[in-house]
Amino acid sequence: MNHLRRVCAAVFLGLAAVPAAAQLSATEQQIVAAVKARSEDAIKLLEQSVNINSGTMNHEGVREVGGLFRTEFDRLGFKTRWVDMPPAMQRAGHLVAEREGTQGKRLLLIGHLDTVFEKNSPVQLWNRQGDRVRGQGVSDMKGGDVIIIEALRALQTVGALEHTTISVVLSGDEERAGSPLSIARADMIAAAKRSDVALAFEGTVRDKSGNDTGTVGRRASGGFALEVKGKQGHSAGVFGEDGYGAIYETARILNSFREQLIEPDLTFNPGVILGGTEVTYDDAATRGTAFGKTNVISRTTLVRGDLRYLSVEQRDKAHARMREIVAKNLPGTSAEISFRETYPPMSPTPGNLKVLELYSKASAAAGLGTIAPLPPGLRGAGDVQFAAPYVDSLDGMGARGTGAHSPDEDLDVKSIEQASIRTAIMIYRLTR
Ligand SMILES: [Zn+2]
Repeated sequence: MNHLRRVCAAVFLGLAAVPAAAQLSATEQQIVAAVKARSEDAIKLLEQSVNINSGTMNHEGVREVGGLFRTEFDRLGFKTRWVDMPPAMQRAGHLVAEREGTQGKRLLLIGHLDTVFEKNSPVQLWNRQGDRVRGQGVSDMKGGDVIIIEALRALQTVGALEHTTISVVLSGDEERAGSPLSIARADMIAAAKRSDVALAFEGTVRDKSGNDTGTVGRRASGGFALEVKGKQGHSAGVFGEDGYGAIYETARILNSFREQLIEPDLTFNPGVILGGTEVTYDDAATRGTAFGKTNVISRTTLVRGDLRYLSVEQRDKAHARMREIVAKNLPGTSAEISFRETYPPMSPTPGNLKVLELYSKASAAAGLGTIAPLPPGLRGAGDVQFAAPYVDSLDGMGARGTGAHSPDEDLDVKSIEQASIRTAIMIYRLTR
């Protein structure tokens, strides 16, 4: 993290204190004016979308929000399609909007249509009080979706969308991704592969001084499963001929992880453990049973844990060291560990920092301040991580609010206009 801060301090030294308008070209000033002219209508569009409940499992609601936004992309001259998921996955599907040209960088813009608030949620849909709105998904992330649309609309108004190559993927299941992920995210990954830069519009997070930040890294989310076997025998024989038993061996392994593996941005958390003579565990229900007696050496143990890391290198190193520890079995025991990865890591690469620099410059030029990177450890997993392995990526370009996922989720209304301006100028510059 310290390293990251140093890198970014160097990046931002180049910004001089020139008045905002002087840093914007004539066309860019028209783009800002076009965003501002739409400010009230943008909030109306947001209100319309928020008033449709679209909890991930309310498929009809997710499709309806998708339909509302699809109309907007159609108006902007994008080719739009709804991508259905196989019925067995029980997810609504995604909205994809595309335009193709030959000019500038090819962009992928990422948003999502669903929210964590299911149909039976007691949280009110939309409640505006002055400069703030509380409601379902106002900042996570229908606000971000509207920012995408309004930024593109401003570009269209000044004729700057022509000849650009832009794909937009709005997932219908970001909050509870459908399984398998290889199908659920196939369209996003395909779009990333034919793009140069991915921009994602999850809400921005403010730093300690109250400034908006950009997300250049998000930790992977994965897990481990540990299964340990011991030799069943009388407890009086423990440490002797019958060995140490499965439970001691499991304790050794987990404690060694804690003693030997802790480093920045890597976490491993055993979340459930069962041990004894016999155990059962249901992965879907995340619950199980254990049977054992105090006078019997334990025969079996099972652990399920979560594992998070910031890069493929960190993952591979952690896996290797965990395997090494697991292999050093106490007498009379054996153990096996396996790993899974659900969200790949988005590492804070030099390419991602470069995208942030462009965003920060666009923001500063419009008089909206510079944007610093958010320490990657501070965010959970998100859709941008499926694009990040293929393209330079930036997340956190969305609305500003507090309490995402909670009944108090709210939105700072003026952040819609501000983020739309930053985004529009940045896209304009990327596509010249
Ligand atoms: Zn979100």
